[in-house]
Amino acid sequence: MITLTWIYLRPDAISVWENSEVRDRLSWYYRVMRDLAPARFIICKHIPVEQDPSSLSVEELWKQHDKAAEEFWKIYREIDSGEMKLEELEKPKWSLLDVKAELAKRIIESCRLCEHRCGVNRLKGERGFCRLSSETIVDSWFLHYGEEAPLVPSGTIFYGSCNFRCVFCQNYMISQVKPFDGIVVDEKQLALMQEELRRKGARNINHVGGEPTPHLHTIISSMKHLDENTPQLWNSNMYCSVEAMKLLLEVIDIWLPDLKYGNNNCASRLSGIKGYWEIASRNIKMAHDHGDIIIRHLVLPNHLECCTRPILEWISKNCPRSLVNVMEQYRPMYLVPRYPDKYKDIARPLKADEIKEAYKIAEELGIVFEPVS
Ligand code: SF4
Repeated sequence: MITLTWIYLRPDAISVWENSEVRDRLSWYYRVMRDLAPARFIICKHIPVEQDPSSLSVEELWKQHDKAAEEFWKIYREIDSGEMKLEELEKPKWSLLDVKAELAKRIIESCRLCEHRCGVNRLKGERGFCRLSSETIVDSWFLHYGEEAPLVPSGTIFYGSCNFRCVFCQNYMISQVKPFDGIVVDEKQLALMQEELRRKGARNINHVGGEPTPHLHTIISSMKHLDENTPQLWNSNMYCSVEAMKLLLEVIDIWLPDLKYGNNNCASRLSGIKGYWEIASRNIKMAHDHGDIIIRHLVLPNHLECCTRPILEWISKNCPRSLVNVMEQYRPMYLVPRYPDKYKDIARPLKADEIKEAYKIAEELGIVFEPVS
C-alpha cells in the first residue's frame, strides 16, 4: 500500500517539479517515474538479437550488443518524442537485455567491472580489491526520504562492499568492514525487492552502497525478472570500466554520480584510488551525454582550490545539462578521527565561509543547483 505521509516531511519533493529547469533537465526520468514512458530496461527487452547469447563468444556478444544498442537509441528517441509506443514492439525470444546480462557474467570471470581490473574469476569464488565473490550482498533496502527532492521517496538498495577506501566513509560498516552484513540475494530476489519498493511508492530504484558496480552482474540480470516500470538510478563513485558503462547506458534512467576529487593526488591519498580524475570524469561525461543526471560533490574542508573549484569548472564546461548538488554535510568519520595528524586537512567539519565560497564558485560558473525549490 502506498502511504503519502512523506509529503509532510518533504513537501519540496512535490514543489520541485514546478521548477522548469528541473522538469526540463530530468524530463525522461520524470516521465518514467509517472509511468508516462517505459523504463529503459523495458525497452531493452524489446530490442531483438539474432542468436542465443549463451552460445556466443565474448567478441560475438559485443558485436551483437553494439548493433542492438544502435537500434535501442533509434527506438528510444522515437518513444521519447512520442512517435512510437512500446506496445507497437513485439517481445523477442532474445533481447539486448539478455546480451547485457550474459556479458556481465562473462566479465566477472576475469573481473573488469571497474578500473581496478583485478582479473579474478569471481564465479569461482576468487576476490579482488572489492573482496567480493560473485555473490551479491544487500545490507538494507527501504524507502529513503533524505535524497534530493526529485528522487524522494527513493527505493534505495544498499549493497555491501566498495571498490574505494575512503578514509572518511560515512557508510564504512557497509562498505569496508568485512564480513559484510546483510543477505545474499540472487537476481530473482533482487527483482522482487525492486517490485516491492515500487509498489510501496518508490519514485526510483536507487542502486547504492558501498558501491553498486561490483554487483552490476546481478543488478542487470534482475531486470530480466522485473516487470514493474521502475526508473533505474545509478548512485556511484563512477570508477566503473568502459565495458561496465556500455552495459549501463541503455538501462539507467537517471544517474547520481559522486564527483569527489579534482585531482589524482587527493583521490590516491584519501580513497586509495589510481587514475581517479580521468576515469570518473570520462564516465560522468558519458552518463551526461546519454541521460538525465544529478552530480553530487561533497565539499571537503581545505579542498576548495584543489577539488571543489576544478570539479565545478569541469562540470560547467562538460556537463551543461546536469543538475548539481553541492553537499555541505561532511563530518570527519571512520579513519579520520583515529589518525587526526595523518588526515589533518579533513579532521574537522566545514567552516561556514568554506560552504559560502563553494556556493559562490558554483554560482559564478552558472551551475544549476539541485534541489531547487
Ligand atoms: S569489481 Fe572492481 S574491485 Fe571488484 S573484483 Fe572486479 S575489478 Fe576488482
